[in-house]
Amino acid sequence: MSTPATNGHAPDLSAFEGIDGTDAEMRDVVIIGTGPAGWTAALYTARASLEPLVFMGPEPGGQLTTTTDVENYPGYPDGIMGPDMMQDFQAQAEQFGAESCYGVVTDVDFSERPYRLLVDEETLIHAQTVIIATGASARYLGLENEQRLLGHGVSACATCDGAFFRDETVAVVGGGDSAMEEAMFLTKFAKEVRVIHRRDELRASKIMQERAFDNDKITFVWDTEVVDVLGEDQVTGIEVINNNTEETYVMDDVTGLFLAIGHTPNTEPFKGWLDMDDSDYIETQPDSTYTNIPGVFACGDAQDHVYRQAVTAAGTGCMAAIDAERWLSEHGVIDEPRTETEYHAAPATASNA
Ligand code: NAP
Repeated sequence: MSTPATNGHAPDLSAFEGIDGTDAEMRDVVIIGTGPAGWTAALYTARASLEPLVFMGPEPGGQLTTTTDVENYPGYPDGIMGPDMMQDFQAQAEQFGAESCYGVVTDVDFSERPYRLLVDEETLIHAQTVIIATGASARYLGLENEQRLLGHGVSACATCDGAFFRDETVAVVGGGDSAMEEAMFLTKFAKEVRVIHRRDELRASKIMQERAFDNDKITFVWDTEVVDVLGEDQVTGIEVINNNTEETYVMDDVTGLFLAIGHTPNTEPFKGWLDMDDSDYIETQPDSTYTNIPGVFACGDAQDHVYRQAVTAAGTGCMAAIDAERWLSEHGVIDEPRTETEYHAAPATASNA
């Protein structure tokens, strides 16, 4: 057993005090999170007859449930609504025996195997392996109308939603690399991309800044913050404030508002146990989903702050499932890895990619 990571945190087991674990359910695989990574891990482990238990988390379906059409997931030439796609992911995993459960894993004890997971602060589950697919949450400004118009002109993902703003004027909030990247991507579609930044200098790397400054379609509005989002069913403008003059005014030509003020990985319950980078993304060993705790795997946006796409999350979910299955076999919990066995034994009608 490796020494628990600290990252400035100590493992905290206080939540487990007084919890009676006598009748706690024991599972070979518990998957935490139900975005593309979690459901793909569930699909693969279910097909390997590992009967995974999947905890849906506070936002079942993850970030894709807050977007509308998804046009960049391979296999959907006409696009698909984000929530519909996640329902399909779930149905496919459950069809092979994944068991899903509403609940949030609030605390973990990775000190010895079987690992202990506390669900909704009260129910104890024992797990031989754990696949963490808790994702990351885009940060928002916290405005009431921003949340109401999410998916209706407000977005935190230019890659997902940019194409809906062809020849329109859109605003990007933020001054970091993400904001520059989102702004540049949006210039493929929008006629003007207005970067609204709260200070008068960017946080973004020099090269990203230069690219953005060189792009004729990108304009900058300095020392300015968005204070309201306007529109009934769709964004029709934004209200901003100049931080120097405290003057507020409306930009009534803006029909799309993209937030690029950072993401927060949903890794709170694992602090003190798992190695994480400075931004609390879980660190995995190269070319694998192994964390520093044996039998605990991480996939999707909880460990990826670079690509952050549904398809890459699904890919690492698949990796985590295969890693977990092989690990269970190597540690004698199951007889042999079942992926290959199952691959060859699958019915003729099923295709195995
Ligand atoms: P970030 O670097 O933390 O930048 C967030 C930006 O949002 C900052 O400019 C910040 O303003 C602004 N902001 C934060 N809260 C705000 C609020 N409430 N209202 C208005 N503005 C707010 O985040 P990021 O751009 O997502 O980048 C995260 C990490 O990923 C960075 O390490 C970045 O280099 C990396 N990344 C790299 C690439 C690339 O290399 N291609 C692409 C994307 C991200 P202040 O500057 O005033 O704090």
